[in-house]
Amino acid sequence: MKYFSTRNQNNFVSFREAVLNGLARDGGLFMPEIIPSFPKSFIENLDSFSFQEIGFETAKKFISDEIGEQKLQEIIQRSLNFPAPLVDLDEDIHILELFHGPTLAFKDFGAQFMARTMEHFVKDDNKELIIIVATSGDTGSAVAHGFYGVEGIKVYLLYPSGKVSGIQEKQLTTLDKNITALEIQGTFDDCQHLVKNAFTDNDLKNKLKLSSANSINIARLIPQSFYYINAVKQLKRNTKKIVFSVPSGNLGNITAGLIAKKMGMPIDLFIAATNSNDVFTNYLSSGNFEPRKSVQTYSNAMDVGNPSNLERMRALYDDNIERMRSEIESFSFDDEKTVIGIKEVHNNYGYIIDPHGAVGYLALKKFLTAHKPNKIDSIIIETAHPAKFKDVVENTIKAEVKIPPRLAECLNKEKHSIVLDSNFETLKDYLLNTC
Ligand SMILES: *Cc1c(COP(=O)(O)O)cnc(C)c1O
Repeated sequence: MKYFSTRNQNNFVSFREAVLNGLARDGGLFMPEIIPSFPKSFIENLDSFSFQEIGFETAKKFISDEIGEQKLQEIIQRSLNFPAPLVDLDEDIHILELFHGPTLAFKDFGAQFMARTMEHFVKDDNKELIIIVATSGDTGSAVAHGFYGVEGIKVYLLYPSGKVSGIQEKQLTTLDKNITALEIQGTFDDCQHLVKNAFTDNDLKNKLKLSSANSINIARLIPQSFYYINAVKQLKRNTKKIVFSVPSGNLGNITAGLIAKKMGMPIDLFIAATNSNDVFTNYLSSGNFEPRKSVQTYSNAMDVGNPSNLERMRALYDDNIERMRSEIESFSFDDEKTVIGIKEVHNNYGYIIDPHGAVGYLALKKFLTAHKPNKIDSIIIETAHPAKFKDVVENTIKAEVKIPPRLAECLNKEKHSIVLDSNFETLKDYLLNTC
């Protein structure tokens, strides 16, 4: 399988190249040249496949020509090692819990798989791979946990000092070994700017082997389709229509769902649920893509003003918005409504949902009210554990949110970070002296 850039469909690279480069040279995102189909027998017998087997059967179609089946099995086993259970709110509405990984957010699925894949691709290189990531919180810790202890790879996380939550900072700064947290005295944009500069700086490029492991890496996208397929399996009946409501920011998660559908999964509709950063919602209704500066909300992992995976979605629909509209709807909700959503889910179903999931719930409810469909199974994707947003959630439901042991453990550890000013020369000197 070859991979093309969304900005030049004649420009193909191998999977290895796509993974190690992250972004195409022309600034586009990598996409597989074709979306393979599952054999009918696979879909009909989904019940008999474990989550890991589903992951293997899916990944195999994209990458087994480059990573042999045996190695791929090993990568799946080492990365897909936490569950994604479907929990019923009632007979028709379900929650797909994607927060059972090491950092309690769905990004663990992509980060774990990407880390094992990169580890495989660089294992014979004699030069260490240096990964630098700018993070506003969640991405960085998922990436760091993915690469933790991986030989031949060092990770530097740049995060804006004082601008991530206490819990997020603990997750970023309590890993040792090959992970270093760089606490930048600036904003998230400054961090991103520093990373971009590092990739274009000749001294750094000559001396170090740099990679970005950023959120648009194709090795993060592919594993995200596994849990959609595994969710359909868990429904255990194929008579009803199936709708997924996906809390969306950079649109990577929903893109992975669209890929699962295109591979043949019986999914009827996707709902892209957005917060006040509603650029995609507006795009779908007006046809105009108007990126703008993001605003801060309670569902902060969705605070994206220029969703990069839209390029991939447009590629999947050959840039035909009518076709996109026939398979995707989108609704947006502000913080005031988000809080109402959290409260409602707690009161009506006794389930504690996080602010991102609450936006997904509200969007689903709006869809169901507008269409009054019968015979439908709705799945709300819960992207993070409510304990990561303890303050907002507890203030809303007036009850305690229990902290899972793997989070409690890191909260008790001591913070280690290197404080740097947000000046590129400072970062450059630091990297040249320590790597
Ligand atoms: C990243 C993230 C999202 C948004 O996912 P995209 O793939 O960027 O659309 C939603 N919720 C949580 C908790 C996240 O970390």
